[in-house]
Amino acid sequence: ANGDERAAKIPRYVRVNTSCWTTPEAIETFTARGYSLDGPFAHSKSFAEDEHIPDLLLFSPQVQFGEDPLYITGKLILQDKASCFPAYILYPPSDDDNAVVIDATAAPGNKTSHLSALMKNKGTLYAFERDKKRFGTLQMMLTKAKCSNVQPVNADFLTISPEDQLYGSATHILLDPSCSGSGIVNRLDHLLETESESDEDRETRLNKLAAFQLLMIKHAMKFPSVKRIVYSTCSVHAIENEHVVRQVLKSEECINGPFALAHPGEVLPTWKRRGIPTEMDDPRHAASLIRCTPGEDATNGFFVSMFIRQTQLSVSEG
Ligand code: SAM
Repeated sequence: ANGDERAAKIPRYVRVNTSCWTTPEAIETFTARGYSLDGPFAHSKSFAEDEHIPDLLLFSPQVQFGEDPLYITGKLILQDKASCFPAYILYPPSDDDNAVVIDATAAPGNKTSHLSALMKNKGTLYAFERDKKRFGTLQMMLTKAKCSNVQPVNADFLTISPEDQLYGSATHILLDPSCSGSGIVNRLDHLLETESESDEDRETRLNKLAAFQLLMIKHAMKFPSVKRIVYSTCSVHAIENEHVVRQVLKSEECINGPFALAHPGEVLPTWKRRGIPTEMDDPRHAASLIRCTPGEDATNGFFVSMFIRQTQLSVSEG
């Protein structure tokens, strides 16, 4: 299937921004507009609630929301289903005034606004973005989505000291760094993976990205209070996904340090497609990883992993 055919099989996903209203209110609004809860593909005015992610609605791919006042006012966020996995899996503290959470690579801010909503706008969510222009987009998004607990910071996450008074107490870090974008399904983005590129050039490019991704994870692991780190990409390449995780598991932070892959039961257990076992040193680790395959999972291509700090108790329990 080409990019267009695959895109046609992906419902239009719309996340209800619970910082503004509730999902029952959204459903009522759409019902009043003549929509019915018959599933995303029954007819042009049918929609559904997602089976894996709360507050996510599915519409027919033809439905456009770009001009919809609900989108313009931030009550609806246009966000692919797979892109909702990282914040949901990270599971930040909710309704906790003392919570400190970091989104290390935030712009344009879809996952930041999701984290903020899951935190019920309580505590502090530091959102780092190193690119100045993208930082501007992030700021606009946060205002529009009414994210009152977010402190955006125009800085490179790698320059942030884990001992910093402000950020050092972060317990949850979301890492969704730059990647090849090879999982994104639409014709334009397919051009990102340039067909004229030689295998060698492609491998060099992916290896560079993977080295940077690994560095970001290791930096996140230096934060003294961090308990959970989610690493995600919208890439389909094992080099940026399983291989990065494999290297983290072989690093000091996991061999002699406190971090381990999360138990599969903590990583959206209802989602069937997991990591690729043959790409891991220990194939059993693949069960802790999530993959989304474009065209087959009604999402874009995506990858999610989570690292957890082991407590003394769980280490001695083996
Ligand atoms: N999480 C975002 C969302 O869901 O809307 C998408 C993030 S995008 C894949 C990666 C972003 O990280 C880019 O905006 C990029 O400029 C930024 N970035 C890359 N390296 C960074 C670094 N070292 N520190 C902070 N931001 C970085």
